[in-house]
Amino acid sequence: MVAELISVGTELLLGNIVNTNAAYLSKKLAALGINVYYQTTVGDNEGRLAEALQAARERSDLVILTGGLGPTKDDLTKEVTAAAVGRMLVLDEAVKEDITSYFKQKGKNSGDIPQNNWKQAMIIEGATVLRNENGTAPGLIVTEEDTTLILLPGPPNELVPMTETQVIPYLSSLSNTVFYSAMVKLCGIGESQVEMEIADLIEKQTNPTIAPYAKTGEVHLRVTASASTQKEAKELVKPVVKELKKRFGQAIYTTKEEETLEDVVVKALLKRELTLVTAESCTAGLLTGRIVNVPGVSEVLKEGFVTYTNKAKRKLLGVSKSTLKTYTAVSAQTAKEMVKGAAIGSDSDVAISITGLAGPGGGTEEIPVGTVFIGCYANEKVTVKEFHFNGSREKIRELSVVNGLDLLRRCIMNHY
Ligand code: ATP
Ligand code: MG
Repeated sequence: MVAELISVGTELLLGNIVNTNAAYLSKKLAALGINVYYQTTVGDNEGRLAEALQAARERSDLVILTGGLGPTKDDLTKEVTAAAVGRMLVLDEAVKEDITSYFKQKGKNSGDIPQNNWKQAMIIEGATVLRNENGTAPGLIVTEEDTTLILLPGPPNELVPMTETQVIPYLSSLSNTVFYSAMVKLCGIGESQVEMEIADLIEKQTNPTIAPYAKTGEVHLRVTASASTQKEAKELVKPVVKELKKRFGQAIYTTKEEETLEDVVVKALLKRELTLVTAESCTAGLLTGRIVNVPGVSEVLKEGFVTYTNKAKRKLLGVSKSTLKTYTAVSAQTAKEMVKGAAIGSDSDVAISITGLAGPGGGTEEIPVGTVFIGCYANEKVTVKEFHFNGSREKIRELSVVNGLDLLRRCIMNHY
């Protein structure tokens, strides 16, 4: 099935709002195995919306329109769609009742309901109504011979629940096809490299499909297959996941949808009965916070040092004065002494240290903003990695945490 999205709203064209609805719907459709070939954004303009809709109906099996279902004059989506399919707008009693009870909930009686809200009780003749639990504009499904049109309200807090509870079940029921998908999560490898290494797989893919998603410091690959039974779909996904494992090896930290990087790190420590200590400078506790997200972490985490100044690095971790003077705080030597000092001082099996320059100020030619050294101590071996991250202060700190967790994971796996 080929689908396309039409986002309606002048606000979108002006850049006043970001089109999160299109991103959300595209993701949901991809997970259902439905190909989205076009995304169009059009303003609140009758002629241009009619044109966009005409083109969409000619080339796609499914057209989802969002926005412009509200009560005001500039909300035109329903009127334009009705005209396009040659149907009337008719009053729907059930929707009218829904609107009345929506306002009642808000403490208004029907006399107080703004007149133009009744416009929302008008539906396209023959359409299926998608009830709106969080607003007054219902969604509509209009089926034509070759095309299905779905109209959804613009506000995400209305569109998302409507999609989850009504649109997705509807789309799944359109075919007797079932979907199965697996998630392969990678870390320590860039998105473009991942895509390059699976370019051949993506090129020839039909079923299953591989969809990459870039996260901060991570890349997730969703492998989705469709078949007539769940078991069959699962069987189709299996060899693709196996192939990905072969190609990416240790860069894959999990194939479980819900599992996070910190889950994997804590699990690895628990399994080997190892204890952990952290020593953070520029991230100042962010990594420790991520680790503590995981229930059961008290079995492994001993303590965490936030050593922001040179003095703290010396006093709490025993980093030598001459190291700080010769190499500065943002150096491999400092990261190494931090991690050793933390491990030995707290008598832990494994330690992690992060020291870097998150900016925006303070960069030099030798140590530009984004330079981060991460040290890991495992089984008495110290590994230090140098990173050069781009982005805001927040982004650099976040990337430091993700790469710190990844280094921990790899060191634990390789040294025990
Ligand atoms: P309303 O009843 O609120 O008028 P509507 O269905 O007519 O809803 P619009 O008027 O087009 O929708 O948009 C209402 C609000 O919904 C926008 O101001 C914006 O906050 C949000 N919105 C609309 N379209 C999108 C979109 N594509 N992505 C994210 N938010 C959106
Ligand atoms: Mg509106």
